[in-house]
Amino acid sequence: MKTVAFYTLGCKVNQYETEAMSELFQKKGYRVVEPTEKADVYVINTCTVTNLGDRKSRQFIRRSKKKNEDAVIAVVGCYAQMSPDEISKIEDVDIILGTKDRNKIVELCEKAISENRRYNLVEDIMQVKEFEELSIKQVKGKTRANLKIQEGCNQYCSYCIIPYARGQIRSRQLGNIVSEVNKLTENGFKEVVLTGIHVASYGKDLGDIRLIDVIEKIHDIAGIERIRLSSLEPTVVTDDFMKSISRLYKVCDHFHLSLQSGSDTVLQRMNRKYTTEQYKNIVKLIRKYMPNVAITTDIIVGFPGETDDEFSDTYNFVKSIGFSRIHVFKYSPRTGTPAAKFANQISGIEKNERSKKLIDLGEKLSKEFITTFIGKTVEVLFEERVKNKPSYIVGYTTNYIRTICNTPENFEGRILKVAITGIDRDTLIGEIIL
Ligand code: SF4
Repeated sequence: MKTVAFYTLGCKVNQYETEAMSELFQKKGYRVVEPTEKADVYVINTCTVTNLGDRKSRQFIRRSKKKNEDAVIAVVGCYAQMSPDEISKIEDVDIILGTKDRNKIVELCEKAISENRRYNLVEDIMQVKEFEELSIKQVKGKTRANLKIQEGCNQYCSYCIIPYARGQIRSRQLGNIVSEVNKLTENGFKEVVLTGIHVASYGKDLGDIRLIDVIEKIHDIAGIERIRLSSLEPTVVTDDFMKSISRLYKVCDHFHLSLQSGSDTVLQRMNRKYTTEQYKNIVKLIRKYMPNVAITTDIIVGFPGETDDEFSDTYNFVKSIGFSRIHVFKYSPRTGTPAAKFANQISGIEKNERSKKLIDLGEKLSKEFITTFIGKTVEVLFEERVKNKPSYIVGYTTNYIRTICNTPENFEGRILKVAITGIDRDTLIGEIIL
């Protein structure tokens, strides 16, 4: 039996695409092994969001060849899309695919072996108008599945390379989304996470259909008990959207709304399409309909020209919103984006200091948020045993708080009520109510 190993860098969309490619290989009789093992084929699903992503991708290409010098090496994804010439100079690479044609990967690998040829199928992604249909029906060892419904981005934030790597917005046909969700439920999945490069744009290329229509359709599928939205552009959240969402009880009370900065002048330089005032009103609206909602976000610190005052604005804004979790990124200039050429790049020392301050604030806010659940009853979808505490089982609440319970029972894949008795850092501790 031939073997294939995957190494995936980057975001949830890449993870989804790796799963889909993995299923294509398995259908053709391949066994999937860990990337640390010897394999006949190595697929490196790359990321290019930072220059570091490119470097890591190259390192893994070299490392794979060392494991088996006869292996076929296929490099796919965003870095391959942006820099096929750079990758083709790496002698060991047999196949280069960008962010399309991944459904041909098995066929290409077999041809590379039988014909001893190299392939480079990267084309201008800006010309692509159709959503590339890939699908998954099972995800090894998981109770929650990412479901890709959208591709591409037309926003052109000044620091981001993704629109050039993924192309224009393309939405997946609703019928294909529904049939994939049906397959996932047949395999026991109870929760789907709607993912894409810019999910809020869903439907804009299709005509009279929007994100809410997808959510409603999935909501009707028996077997699906939770629908989670991955990162959302804040402006998609309107009163009508929230009114509809609040009628759909399977939609999780967890919104990840990318903020990036709490300073209006920085937001303008970033080419983000909202102000802090709008953002604040959107959060207020969500809380009106979902009182226990967890609002999480991403923040970039040290964006070019970020002054002490602008950073203070961000700090105070983050505090005033009361996020349940924040992911802090230090700005890293990405070659090929406008912001990489902006004047007044911020020093590493300054970025470190600002990042530390925000991380500390984020931890404090997370603790405040989860403490409010002590003494309450929550619903948890259990996933697996805790690695270093095997008498405990771990799962997530609807608003995405990690929760552990001491039990010998096999509750993996079940949603159960839990009475919360305490917390341990970012985790709730509780007792299962049967
Ligand atoms: S919305 Fe902005 S940050 Fe997000 S993928 Fe599009 S360009 Fe990049």
